[in-house]
Amino acid sequence: MATIGFIGLGNMGAPMLANLVKTGHQVTAFDLSDSARQAGKAAGGAIAANAGDVSKGAGIVITMLPAGRHVLSVYQDSNGPFSQAAPGTLFIDCSTIDVTSARSAHELARKAGMLSLDAPVSGGVGGATAGTLTFMVGGAPEAFARGESVLANMGRKIVHCGGDGAGQAAKICNNMLLGISMIATGEAFALGERLGLTHQALFDVISTASGQCWSVTSYCPVPGPVPASPANNDYKPGFAAELMLKDLSLALEAAQSTATDCALGKHAQEIYAKFNAAGHAGEDFSAVINDVRARSGG
Ligand code: NAD
Repeated sequence: MATIGFIGLGNMGAPMLANLVKTGHQVTAFDLSDSARQAGKAAGGAIAANAGDVSKGAGIVITMLPAGRHVLSVYQDSNGPFSQAAPGTLFIDCSTIDVTSARSAHELARKAGMLSLDAPVSGGVGGATAGTLTFMVGGAPEAFARGESVLANMGRKIVHCGGDGAGQAAKICNNMLLGISMIATGEAFALGERLGLTHQALFDVISTASGQCWSVTSYCPVPGPVPASPANNDYKPGFAAELMLKDLSLALEAAQSTATDCALGKHAQEIYAKFNAAGHAGEDFSAVINDVRARSGG
């Protein structure tokens, strides 16, 4: 079992840490927020006095932070985790961040003599708690070989997507498609309502026909056909609309930097930006069907 440092004990980090402890690892953790440190302690971690101390004696250091600037500030801090880590320590960043920052983080780790992976997740707080996350991983094969078994203690599926930044790239491509397909699903069901179709009849057709997609079959945005979907629970997240907007914004940043014409991704970003600004940021992203209805006159 490994000695692991963990930085970022928020909604995702604390339950991920709990699964590492449950599978026998020794985890020393840090967060800037007192309540998050308490959550890390309750999950079984030893709490360090600062981010630098988590890497004392650790073979692996995991970060689970809000955005690229937070990850880079931790990696660049002269008193941060690189300052106390032994050469060759594996740094795994599980945050969802932009591809450019992810590649910079790998570069910083390399310069400091460390191994590194970008390993964003899909599966949300439910998956983090149940230990069923999917990890999309970028980095060198030797880093992946060192990290895979520890990631498997927090997740069910671990995919090595390629070199530095490939995990973040796969994550934003997937989530851009999801953001678009959920709006399209909302439009199909809103149109079906106006044409007199029941939700169940339309679901029974689409779920076995050529329009089939995850947004319909596993996460249907109307109550009834998929009992576990947030539509049956007043659109409580799930996956909040603000996080979908974050991921669409990362995808559009990448589209711009690679001169890729993602017209539908851009439109989806605009729709979610307006939806969030109208006070729905904390709702599940599938509630965007209500935006379709509102734009159609209610
Ligand atoms: P969160 O805001 O709940 O937790 C982030 C934690 O990082 C906070 O406790 C904050 O205090 C801490 N932090 C920030 N800067 C720090 C620093 N310099 N040093 C130490 N701690 C610091 O966020 P979350 O929901 O846990 O998400 C974490 C990451 O996972 C994000 O990148 C998010 O996009 C991604 N993600 C979240 C979900 C989800 O459903 N919540 C799903 C998939 C991916």
